[in-house]
Amino acid sequence: MIRVTLGGEGVAALRPGAEGGYLKMRFGDEEGIKPPVRSYTIRRQDAESIEVDFVVHGEGGHAGPAVEWALTAQPGQVILAGGPGPAKTLPEGMDRYLIAGDMTALPAISVNLERLPADAKGVAAIEIQSAEDRQDIAHPEGVEVIWLVNPEPGTRPDMLADALRKAGRGEGEVHGWAAAEFGSMHALRAYLRDECGLDRDHLYISSYWKHGEDDDGHREAKQADGVLAG
Ligand SMILES: Cc1cc2nc3c(=O)[nH]c(=O)nc-3n(C[C@H](O)[C@H](O)[C@H](O)COP(=O)(O)OP(=O)(O)OC[C@H]3O[C@@H](n4cnc5c(N)ncnc54)[C@H](O)[C@@H]3O)c2cc1C
Repeated sequence: MIRVTLGGEGVAALRPGAEGGYLKMRFGDEEGIKPPVRSYTIRRQDAESIEVDFVVHGEGGHAGPAVEWALTAQPGQVILAGGPGPAKTLPEGMDRYLIAGDMTALPAISVNLERLPADAKGVAAIEIQSAEDRQDIAHPEGVEVIWLVNPEPGTRPDMLADALRKAGRGEGEVHGWAAAEFGSMHALRAYLRDECGLDRDHLYISSYWKHGEDDDGHREAKQADGVLAG
């Protein structure tokens, strides 16, 4: 993960509480060429700056323009970004929260866990590339955080859903939140929506990228699939 701090007039004008929302960042400024645009979550915000965490992937050839940029970004360099899109927050007052995501969703999950009341209960399964990717994230004591290591992201679509299934749905009013690779999203949707019976009001689910496709291909697949949200 590479953490980048962004400032500037636009950032200073962001309303407080933009954490967890996402930016559409533009990687390229060649005249006449439509720049690649990628979505990134605002991990932290203060009066003058925001932080964005880039998952490093595809080193040695298959990294996309966003990662290429993050790997070489220098202090003072300019990047254009639109947004923010709204954070997909967890509603308060649920009996149990079932949360899952890979490293691309770790910034959004971290913000959500920080905002939950201290007596909240549930489980958060997070897929990371290596044990060193674990982060010390603040979370209510009653929310168990499970770290799952998969060095090859996108190759184990059942990993997150299986972890939630093992933890169990639990009783009462349950809210699900999941964002991950496209195949993982499918498995999570099958578990949370179909097995646990969570309806639209009790479930946010989204794919954040697709194994073997750049973001344009991912968005096409997402549209064809009619993903519930995000
Ligand atoms: C709402 C939203 C919020 C997001 N927030 C974040 C965030 O805070 N941090 C973050 O890192 N990502 C985040 N993402 C995911 C990020 O937008 C994608 O991973 C994006 O495709 C990366 O762009 P790229 O230019 O690096 O790669 P692309 O050009 O899109 O893809 C190039 C190749 O890399 C592969 N690839 C893309 N992402 C990954 C990955 N994570 N792991 C392994 N292979 C990958 C693709 O399958 C493709 O083969 C978010 C996505 C959404 C929709």
